[in-house]
Amino acid sequence: MSTSMTGDSATLGNTIAGGTVPCSMLFVHAHPDDETIFTGATMAHYAALGTRVALVTCTLGEQGDIYVPELAHLAADQADQLGGYRFSELRTACGLLGVSQLRMLGGAGRYRDSGMPGTSGNAHHRAFGYTDVASAIAELADIIVELKPEVVLTYDESGLTAHPDHVRTHHVTMAAIRTAADPARIDRWEVREAYAPTFPRGLLEAGQVRFRASSENPFADVGELGSLPFVTADGLLDARVDGSPHAEAKLAALAAHATQIRPDTWLYALATNLGIEPTGVEYYRRLPLSTLDVFPESVAAGP
Ligand SMILES: [Zn+2]
Repeated sequence: MSTSMTGDSATLGNTIAGGTVPCSMLFVHAHPDDETIFTGATMAHYAALGTRVALVTCTLGEQGDIYVPELAHLAADQADQLGGYRFSELRTACGLLGVSQLRMLGGAGRYRDSGMPGTSGNAHHRAFGYTDVASAIAELADIIVELKPEVVLTYDESGLTAHPDHVRTHHVTMAAIRTAADPARIDRWEVREAYAPTFPRGLLEAGQVRFRASSENPFADVGELGSLPFVTADGLLDARVDGSPHAEAKLAALAAHATQIRPDTWLYALATNLGIEPTGVEYYRRLPLSTLDVFPESVAAGP
């Protein structure tokens, strides 16, 4: 990457797994489309290098908005069929990104999209962010033992957004990594490293300056960077994955999630204004595995 948009992070030397190519990687996301938005280029990058790339998605995203007018009737408060439709979108995206294994946690439909905090979806008996966390941990631990990923990627403790399913996905994943490695298990697997996607502060600051006067400013709604959970100071980034040769695949996978991705989304605006390469560069913080025994009681018990 030579564009000035990369800021200091262009010099970031580290990459996932110390620059080696893992045999197996597992991505854990909350909803269909998160895999593409946050980690799509990384998936395609490692799949192209021969890594077995697996994805666990925790819910079908039933509470999502619908940006295809003729499919509006699928919504949760109408036919309530969005989840099944999004599963087909997810399968298409996975094909485009080279994902060889797609699993729905607990089986498709086991856990439901909780919706944003304070919405009616929170109260559903299958709402992932508020339901039986022990089952989710056990189910994910079994998948980890089966697939034996050296590297797991999921959100950090902020969930990147305020969505309760994202925050729950982080805690479930970290607990499942610990559970899978439990010496008391007959079949066990120790994940070597875990990473969470993030966005470099320098990159976003440069974008805010560059697009300040533009009517197509993809950063217009970003707001004060210091207060955003998905922004990391450049000096605290742990890995940068240059999947720019796969930026086209990432954009195609985004398009596959047509019900969720607005035609004027910031990702498309960036690609239009800067060329598609920056869309394919993704940044990560390492999630420390040494603190895995610190599992918040409030999460274990649910809200
Ligand atoms: Zn999500």
